[in-house]
Amino acid sequence: MIYLDNSATTRQADEVTDLMAQLAREEFGNPSSLHPMGLQAQNRVTDARRILAKVLGATPEEIVFNSCGTEGDNTVLFGVAETRKHQGRKIITTAVEHPAVLEACKVLETRGYKVSYIGVDDKCRLNKAQLEEELSTAGRSPEDTPILVSVMAVNNETGTIMPVADAARLAHSAGALFHTDAVQAFGKIGLAGIGADFITMSGHKIHGPKGIGAMYIKKGVNLPAYLVGGGQERGMRSGTENVPAIAGLGKAVELMEQERACMGCGPEAPRKYLLEGIKDGIPDIIINSPESPEECVPSVLNVSFLGTRGEVILHTLEADGICVSTGSACSSNKKGQSHVLAAMGLSPKEIEGAIRFSFSRYNTIEEMDIVLDRLTKAVTRFRRLGSFR
Ligand code: PLP
Repeated sequence: MIYLDNSATTRQADEVTDLMAQLAREEFGNPSSLHPMGLQAQNRVTDARRILAKVLGATPEEIVFNSCGTEGDNTVLFGVAETRKHQGRKIITTAVEHPAVLEACKVLETRGYKVSYIGVDDKCRLNKAQLEEELSTAGRSPEDTPILVSVMAVNNETGTIMPVADAARLAHSAGALFHTDAVQAFGKIGLAGIGADFITMSGHKIHGPKGIGAMYIKKGVNLPAYLVGGGQERGMRSGTENVPAIAGLGKAVELMEQERACMGCGPEAPRKYLLEGIKDGIPDIIINSPESPEECVPSVLNVSFLGTRGEVILHTLEADGICVSTGSACSSNKKGQSHVLAAMGLSPKEIEGAIRFSFSRYNTIEEMDIVLDRLTKAVTRFRRLGSFR
């Protein structure tokens, strides 16, 4: 199996699995218990919290563990809407966010909030001028006063890196709070010092466990508790901590940091090899991801193969043991075309022919040779049999 769907989810690192198994078997205490096993579990949670805080340049108290990226995004959007409802009723986000943000915005619209969706260019780069314009209405009326700006740090379909530090600065200068969905960015780009009030992330995108995520909530920024009960997570999210998953997440973050510090340990080389191979060997394509490494994470490559249907190519590759994706697998099973590629201005045909390849440190150049061979054959066959444009 050649797995190129790492934006959907990643293979859990063996180091993470081993640690989690050890904790499940031997260190199963409840962190709230006062006996040594409780303390042992508490220490595991504390260690993981420190690891995440260090990566974000935060203090451990600013990290809250939760269940996933979706929970973090929902917590921030609904929480800020509640706490700031008397200050304003405008929320600004982008047209290319994950449904975890967009669907929450839709619900907020039904509750009387006005949501502005900032556009992007053909490589999914944020329209900063439009953001500035949307922020400039602050103070005119409650409907025009932004309370929150939510801009993802990396887009999940194209890998485009968003200018979140600039967006945070602009949001703050207009009196709004700033959130970034960093589910596809955490562990891949530096996030310390970006000036966000909230950062949300997820374990399963970085070789950690599924069902665990975390939020950074800046000290002093008020957000209502998402779950109330025993008061865990500084009262922000009650419920007995999933200690093995939290420790597994800490380990996964440590491994991502090691990967980032090491030249040639990440997926840069296989991605570059595949990109060059596609450009050299397959005509009539559009590269939808930015090509410069400053603008795109090395884990994603989105390409439209004109005159084909991505879904058919995906199933053809699947028969060869190759897993890719057409859009975002975790907004799963939804019919319809990618809202991200549509916002980038691609035509329905260009969207239909799009494939997302997403990479991890486990991919190799040898695998890319196989992918290039099968992909070229699949595209050629489709174009021969189908009606090309
Ligand atoms: N945000 C982005 C950018 C994502 O890519 C995803 C999942 O693909 C999510 C949020 C949701 O994360 P989770 O699956 O942990 O709920």
